Amino acid sequence: MSYSTSYTSFANLPIDGLHSPMSSVTSDSESSLSIGKTRLTLLDLYSGCGAMSTGLCLGANFAGTNLQTRWAVDLNSFACESLKLNHPHTEVRNEDAENFLMLLQEWEKLCKRFSLIGTQSYFDDGCMLNDDDEDDLEDSSEVPKGEFEVGKIVGICYGDPAKLSKVGLHFKVRWKGYGPSEDTWEPLDGLRKCQERIKDFVTSGYKRNILPLPGSADVICGGPPCQGISGFNRFRQSDAPLQDPKNKQVVVFMDIVEFLKPKYILMENVVDMLKFARGFLGRYAISRLVSMNYQARMGLMVAGCYGLPQFRMRVFLWGALSTEVLPQFPYPTHDVVIRGGCPNEFESNVVAYDESQRPTLEKALLLGDAIRDLPPITNAEKRDEMPYDQPPITNFQRMIRLTRDELTGSRQVGAKSSKKACLFDHRPLELNDDDYQRVCAIPKRKGANFRDLSGVRVGEDNVVEWDPEISSVYLPSGKPLVPDYCMSFIKGKSPKPFGRLWWDETVPTVVTRAEPHNQVILHPEQDRVLSIRENARLQGFPDYYQLRGPIKERYIQVGNAVAVPVSRALGIALARAVVKDCGSGALFELPPGFQQHELTSLNNLDAIEAVAETK
Ligand code: SAH
Repeated sequence: MSYSTSYTSFANLPIDGLHSPMSSVTSDSESSLSIGKTRLTLLDLYSGCGAMSTGLCLGANFAGTNLQTRWAVDLNSFACESLKLNHPHTEVRNEDAENFLMLLQEWEKLCKRFSLIGTQSYFDDGCMLNDDDEDDLEDSSEVPKGEFEVGKIVGICYGDPAKLSKVGLHFKVRWKGYGPSEDTWEPLDGLRKCQERIKDFVTSGYKRNILPLPGSADVICGGPPCQGISGFNRFRQSDAPLQDPKNKQVVVFMDIVEFLKPKYILMENVVDMLKFARGFLGRYAISRLVSMNYQARMGLMVAGCYGLPQFRMRVFLWGALSTEVLPQFPYPTHDVVIRGGCPNEFESNVVAYDESQRPTLEKALLLGDAIRDLPPITNAEKRDEMPYDQPPITNFQRMIRLTRDELTGSRQVGAKSSKKACLFDHRPLELNDDDYQRVCAIPKRKGANFRDLSGVRVGEDNVVEWDPEISSVYLPSGKPLVPDYCMSFIKGKSPKPFGRLWWDETVPTVVTRAEPHNQVILHPEQDRVLSIRENARLQGFPDYYQLRGPIKERYIQVGNAVAVPVSRALGIALARAVVKDCGSGALFELPPGFQQHELTSLNNLDAIEAVAETK
């Protein structure tokens, strides 16, 4: 392997002019992958509502590689609901990633036990019976009174689903004569007499590919959370980062990679990962990949550079088996000034053109380009669905409104549909009466915030102070119009509390919370915070992508997400690597029309013509 400081790349050594030494070796993977439309399976770990995998698949499919999210895992049940709603064919598992890894190991043993793969048995750890015992215990005998009969097994998990402090492999049992509402989770050792039922379940699960086996997931993507490193977490343990259980998920992610050995991995994280303890966790992740004989490459990408009115810098780490080509990073398409945010040591990892290059980039997107076409709503809006009230104005608005079928090319853009287009999740976090009154008092102009409220003035050094000339103003509830926390936030220097956005701005980063107390999130012209849909647009979610769960949970799913245009661009990078169509550099240029990729998709030529005609 060669190491290059360019994007911290560990890559196969070029031999005989070939980019990858292994590309001359015919491996199983190669023969299956080099064919354009072969189906590749994707496992999305820490999937949230699925933005990262959605973008990867859209990008890969656009570039001619059929990538599909086969499995997704997340601890948050609402995020899982959202993912399932938008991806009905994905096996969505609402569980802890560590338990998922244990389950995968048990699943492999079960598949071997029932001779579905290899010939090894499952006896080693004594969990299962051996063949001799099996006949004696088969469930053919009469069920004694007071006992229930196992009808069939309908689910599997590792952990303590019945909350009985019994951690281990469990099966979900459908009892004979009872419906799904009476299903219970039973530990494996309670099902010793049910080998046939277990066998049926495992055999059918194996055929349906309900869980990945080593080698069966082509790609793993995921953003393992590192709450222990967050800039907001004051108690971070920087001398021993991996000892902090909050940072354990990077280890779990790599353990899953080690077990499943996918051909490619893509890991995402916050830039703090590289700031904390001199980048310990980032270096750990790369080292783990290299030690498992993966090639690796790390880049920092700014979402705004791919056509969003949002800055948002994130770390991305590619990994590829030595039999594959290491994916590159996509050059920006939009002219966004990259202002800081990344530690000095990793500045050269920022995915950007260098000063000697003179690319033609599109102008940066602004808030108005992204959300100005959405219907006006109030702070009290409760509808989850509503009609659009005007046609899209900008190109972004046109693209973001495309239906799923139009986006994937299975329906012509603009073709008449019997269903009327519906706008989802366009409702804001409802502010309480006091905050609502405060928001109503903030002027509707660029740069307005709590400093414009009566009684506040800005003193020396841009620090706010109470204006002694003006007596305090109180709300009908008796609370002050300007709360103390606004005055003391960042020692009085911050203009963020109750800040209004303006149409010509770029948002720094969409976060998971929608409260206006310490961030600029008020709509330019309406007295409310940005709606879930408006935040989703800033993250590049197509409008058809619906979210589930309480309002705050939906904001969390959107704020946690990988910006969809970024993952879509990375999906194109992946597809190029799959068909071994990469140059030797760490970066590549996205195809022209990447932004309108839905319209220029190779399998969607009719649609392009249809749109051209309507223009
Ligand atoms: N990549 C996602 C966002 C991931 S945010 C997207 O693009 O939409 C991180 C996710 O990790 C959150 O949804 C959180 O619920 C989940 N998570 C946190 N700890 C977890 C654990 N131990 N096991 C599984 N999921 C976990």
